[in-house]
Formats: sequence, C-alpha cells, structure tokens
Amino acid sequence: MFLQIQGIKKSFGSGDSRVNVLKGLDLEIEKGEFCVLLGPSGSGKSTLLNIIGGIDSADEGKLIIDGECLADMSEKKLSVYRRKHLGYIFQMYNLIPNLTVRENIEVGAYLSDQPLDVDELLHILGIYEHQKKLPNQLSGGQQQRCAIGRAIVKNPDILLCDEPTGALDYNTSKEILKLIETVNQKYGNTIVMVTHNDAIKDMADRVVKLRDGMIRKNYINEHKIPAAELDW
Ligand code: ADP
Ligand code: MG
Repeated sequence: MFLQIQGIKKSFGSGDSRVNVLKGLDLEIEKGEFCVLLGPSGSGKSTLLNIIGGIDSADEGKLIIDGECLADMSEKKLSVYRRKHLGYIFQMYNLIPNLTVRENIEVGAYLSDQPLDVDELLHILGIYEHQKKLPNQLSGGQQQRCAIGRAIVKNPDILLCDEPTGALDYNTSKEILKLIETVNQKYGNTIVMVTHNDAIKDMADRVVKLRDGMIRKNYINEHKIPAAELDW
C-alpha cells in the first residue's frame, strides 16, 4: 500500500483548552487513488492533510509513504519529500502577485529535477492564452488553474487538495474538480482531497468520512456516491 496512516492521534492546546482533534485514524490509500475526505467543519480534515504533507506532525501513530515512515526521515529527506514529491492546493490560490501565470508555474518546476512540460501543462489547464497575465488579471477559476499547475508541474507522487473550490462558484468548482480528475488520470498522482462539492461523487475512487476525530466511513466508490451520503 502506497500511503499508510496508522493510529494517528493529534491534539491542540493544553489543560482545559486541550482539543483532541484526531483520535486514532487508520487509513490506507493505493498509488494513483483519488481519495476524498469529507467531514463537518472542525473535524480535523485539514489537520490530517497537514500531517500527510509533513507540515504538521502527529502526537501518536505512523505515517508510511511508499514503505518509509515520515517520522523517521531526516530533515533533508523530509524537505525533498515536500519539495519534489508533494503538491499542495489550497482554497486560496496563493499565487505570487508579481509573477505571470507561466512564471508562477515555473516556480513549481524549479523544485523538481524532472518537471513536466510547461507548455503542455498550460494547454491541459486551459490557461495557455493567459500565460503572460498577472494573477490579478485572472478570474478565481483561472487563478486556481494556475495554482494547480504550480502544484503538479513537478509531477508529485501525492497531491493534497484542501477545499480547492471553496472560494469558487458551483460551475467553476465543477470545472476545477474535473481538471483535477483529468490530472489524476493522466499523470497517476495519488490525490487526497477535502471538498464539500457534490460533483466529486462521480470522480472519487475512495470516500472517507471523518467525524469526532474518527473515521466513520471508508469505502471504495464503485460508481456514484448516493447523494444522501454527502449530507451532513
Ligand atoms: P477541518 O479542516 O475539518 O475544518 P481542522 O483540521 O482545521 O478542521 O481543525 C480541527 C480542530 O483543530 C479545530 O477545532 C481547530 O480549531 C483545531 N486546530 C487546528 N489547527 C490548530 C492549531 N494549529 N492550533 C490550535 N488548534 C488547532
Ligand atoms: Mg479545513
């Protein structure tokens, strides 16, 4: 199994204000899988992504990626993991305002030894004709396309997406999710995505539901998720 999450626990704060956010999670994700993480606000979805992304650490438990335990990695190796093998897409696009679309993507390419072809990527992303524009000359959806490009130009093993369509309207959101699905199918990146958008039901290979710090459901999405499953 490519990604193994074993008994992960995480709490924040201390004393009376201590919150146990993750109370012992076990989850296995295969290489190339498109896994969607659902759960109410505050259920620890972002915390889990941050632990997988190596920007936060668990209090207990293990995270094993391709046979290697993240906690045992040297600082150098962890840095290589974050820079070369991991892509991250957030709700806010966080583009560099004084760089063009193309240059923002090239920043991601700089982190890799074998980046994808930027021209090809700009076409796939549907922003080839906007490549010379600055972020503030783009719509939200176009900015997110650019941010996706920056995250995947290094062809990461794992792509983490934390509510990537949270700031977009419904139709634009669907287009962005479709684009991420295309990326998953074309490049085979393993994806772990938090989203509330119900368009995901046609795309995800696996659906995991978090609640009260535990995984309440974890199933392979054979065809479609019944709409009721997405209600909280
Ligand atoms: P979700 O993404 O599911 O909405 P989060 O993982 O962001 O949930 O947060 C889960 C809980 O952990 C929330 O109660 C949040 O306030 C708390 N939390 C998250 N990060 C921190 C932090 N760095 N310090 C203190 N509390 C935090
Ligand atoms: Mg969150």
